[in-house]
Amino acid sequence: MGATLEALRALQDLQFKLTLIRHSEESKRRDVRAKRHKVDGWKEKLGAFEERRLVHQQEIDGVDLEIKALEQKIEKLREDLNKSKTNREYATVLTALNTDKADVARLETLTLEYMGQIEDLSGEQTACQAEHDKAVQRAEKVTRILDEYLSSTAEKRAQLQKDYERAADAVAPEALRRFTRAAEHHDGEGLAPVTKANPKGKEFSCGTCNMTVTLEQLNGLRSRDDIQSCNGCGSILYLDAKDDE
Ligand SMILES: [Zn+2]
Repeated sequence: MGATLEALRALQDLQFKLTLIRHSEESKRRDVRAKRHKVDGWKEKLGAFEERRLVHQQEIDGVDLEIKALEQKIEKLREDLNKSKTNREYATVLTALNTDKADVARLETLTLEYMGQIEDLSGEQTACQAEHDKAVQRAEKVTRILDEYLSSTAEKRAQLQKDYERAADAVAPEALRRFTRAAEHHDGEGLAPVTKANPKGKEFSCGTCNMTVTLEQLNGLRSRDDIQSCNGCGSILYLDAKDDE
């Protein structure tokens, strides 16, 4: 294997280690995002309780006003009843009085119903608050895990990055450019091993995408320090001596 490909393999190795760390970090960040999203969901639900309670309270206040108005009316009807001069007048006032009293009783029942609804709401809210608090704890835990991961890998990551830059300096610019581009397309893996399509055959293919490697490409790899890109996936091909027997 030529010096350029050897240098690229060293680069690939460092890239691979960096990618592993980055993947691990990304998965932890995803976890944090998901858990925080759950907390937001519970927060929203808790906010809705306040609105629902307010609606019930307004209903109760409305009914209270109606009851007060009716009570004033009843007071007045009682006076009218005492002042009534005929049986007929008495009966009419009494009917009105009874109707209003029945209305007050109905409204008082309604108030109790609304109060019951507020009580139910409080129960639901307590359960919701508990779920919210649990979600907060879970989010805090994964955030801690992420922070610990970041601080525990910081030194190693900086060293790998430094090593990577040093290794990259040793590679010719054009080869480095092609490697970087291929690596971007294959999640950090810019190189692909050339493998035998079958143990006894003479056909070779790309270890990443299985595309056939041409004789011309093989000759380039065997005899020169050439950069050969796979025609299928664009990875830079390398041929291990042990795979070329
Ligand atoms: Zn390929």
